[in-house]
Amino acid sequence: MPKKHGAKATSAAAIGNAVRVKPGFVLSDVDPRSTPGYAGSKKDSVGAMDASRAEIDDLQERLYAGGRDGDGPSVLLVLQGMDTAGKGGILRHVVGAVDPQGVSIHAFKVPTKEEREHPFLWRIRKQLPPPGNIGVFDRSHYEDVLVVRVHDLVPPKVWRRRYAEINSFEESCNDKGIHLVKVMLHISPQEQRARLAERLDRPDKYWKFNPGDIDEREHWGDYQEAYQAVLDKTSTDENPWHVVPADHKWYARLAVHQLLLDKLRELHAPWPPADFDVAEQQERLAAT
Ligand code: ATP
Repeated sequence: MPKKHGAKATSAAAIGNAVRVKPGFVLSDVDPRSTPGYAGSKKDSVGAMDASRAEIDDLQERLYAGGRDGDGPSVLLVLQGMDTAGKGGILRHVVGAVDPQGVSIHAFKVPTKEEREHPFLWRIRKQLPPPGNIGVFDRSHYEDVLVVRVHDLVPPKVWRRRYAEINSFEESCNDKGIHLVKVMLHISPQEQRARLAERLDRPDKYWKFNPGDIDEREHWGDYQEAYQAVLDKTSTDENPWHVVPADHKWYARLAVHQLLLDKLRELHAPWPPADFDVAEQQERLAAT
């Protein structure tokens, strides 16, 4: 008899817990080709995302409505990963599927001269999502303990104290009603080579190729070490990290979709009550 896919087998509900970083987490133990918490296929994953799209829309609209008075919670998705890890695909397929009204995306590049003259969190604070919004950071304040650490861009005593600064900064975000979803997209060096090779093979992908990405491959081990330190020092009960295996793009997209859904469900913002007399307005409308 053909094996039937039951709802349980293809449910994405277990992904959040499966990818959450817990004490003693070891990055090198995670297989970038694995699909933790999910037993479905690529095709199932598309169906799973489609099935919860209406719910995400509803939850996002509630969040947005609740922020209209300048109060209420917001969500901040922090995306980190090695070059080619698939941040762009997440932005297009996951974030792109929610109503653009109420979504703000910011990509953090090499700091400008002006940004370098300020403390590292200065440019980050300016991009925090307002109440009711979903903010997305494509790279983030974590670059200041990743690329900066790997390339000795500041003395060790400076980057070492940043982990604690980041933790208290994120707590202050929580106090303002900003709920973080921190995601590291975890790819293998072999998959990165294949993705870079594809960019070099196809004229329609040349624009994505950056020769510097090949130089960065020399530092793969140092980056993994720097990521491990980030996960050890900044995955807290309030603001945990999620390590999402990303060699399979379809799984990474489903996982981030699910993490966003989980967070919106947790917030489940109530519809704001009317700040006018509904019956009176109905009567007025009927009279027109
Ligand atoms: P893709 O992954 O899609 O190729 P990208 O995120 O690599 O895009 P780029 O403009 O190619 O985008 O790279 C941004 C660069 O900025 C990265 O190399 C990143 O390490 C660097 N960067 C970001 N923040 C900092 C920082 N605080 N200090 C130094 N470099 C930084």
